[in-house]
Amino acid sequence: MKIVVALGGNALTKKGEKGAYKELIKNIKKTSKNLIDIIKDNKVIIVSGSGPQVGALVLQNELSKKKVPEMPLNVLDAELEGELGYMIELALNNELKKSKRKSVTVLTQVLVDKNDKGFKNPTKPIGLFYSEKEAEKLRKKGFKIIYQVGKGYRRVVASPTPLEIIEINQIKDLMEKGNIVIAAGGGGIPVYRSDKGLKGIDAVIDKDRASSLLARNIKADLLLILTDVDKVALNYKEKNQKFLNKLSVKDAKKYLKEGHFKEGSMKPKIEASINFLENGGKKVIITSISKVKKGLKDGTLIVK
Ligand code: ADP
Ligand code: MG
Repeated sequence: MKIVVALGGNALTKKGEKGAYKELIKNIKKTSKNLIDIIKDNKVIIVSGSGPQVGALVLQNELSKKKVPEMPLNVLDAELEGELGYMIELALNNELKKSKRKSVTVLTQVLVDKNDKGFKNPTKPIGLFYSEKEAEKLRKKGFKIIYQVGKGYRRVVASPTPLEIIEINQIKDLMEKGNIVIAAGGGGIPVYRSDKGLKGIDAVIDKDRASSLLARNIKADLLLILTDVDKVALNYKEKNQKFLNKLSVKDAKKYLKEGHFKEGSMKPKIEASINFLENGGKKVIITSISKVKKGLKDGTLIVK
């Protein structure tokens, strides 16, 4: 079976943690242990998120820019893809033990449209909070800044639609040869086509959308979205909350419209699932990283 595993940010940094090295190593080790049974018998590509980590790296750059030159966001995306890829690779390879199979990270570029509406209207907040004065200075430099009520001014970046995985053939080849491929980490590095070829562009692609595109491209049998809830719910966190064992695309669309899935968390997962299933995919499972240890029996199954 061919599986694309979308690993939520909490597989790396848990709520309340700061993303310290020790925390990362501990969480990634646990995630790898939970995943190993599924990985052993299947062809697998792993796409990890990096929402909190991107924010931290941007912050680090901003705080030290008087001493060390700042790097643009597309380069920071690449740094993180390498950094997290390395840690996941190490942990998985330790779990694979003497097996000939190894995990390998592909630094993945993902094509986006320079005119994507996300660039005109960026919505994804990252990094530091600023005062009004600082915000004005940054605006003059060309950054988009928004005001988050009660918190302050903050830089926002675009989260454009992923159109094409540039290294898709290389990723496929590695997977077909039995490697566990870690790809499109953090949604991949956004690039666009210019007259002079591909160029990096500053944005953060949603990892759920990138994994759906990857799953379509490799004709995956399963898109496995691992997060911190065991199942998808209707009326989430309300009195009449109801967890779903199974969901059809038709119902998913209906519930989406009714607002059951929150923006920036469950909504992109449901949209990514619909997108995969409407383009040839057969099966999506959304569940937690701890439940997956017992196989693919738990969670919310989404089918066409
Ligand atoms: P990840 O890092 O895995 O992408 P997110 O925080 O983006 O994690 O998404 C998972 C979160 O989605 C859950 O922790 C939960 O709080 C939230 N969520 C929003 N709506 C729902 C829903 N209808 N059912 C279940 N979880 C939901
Ligand atoms: Mg998320």
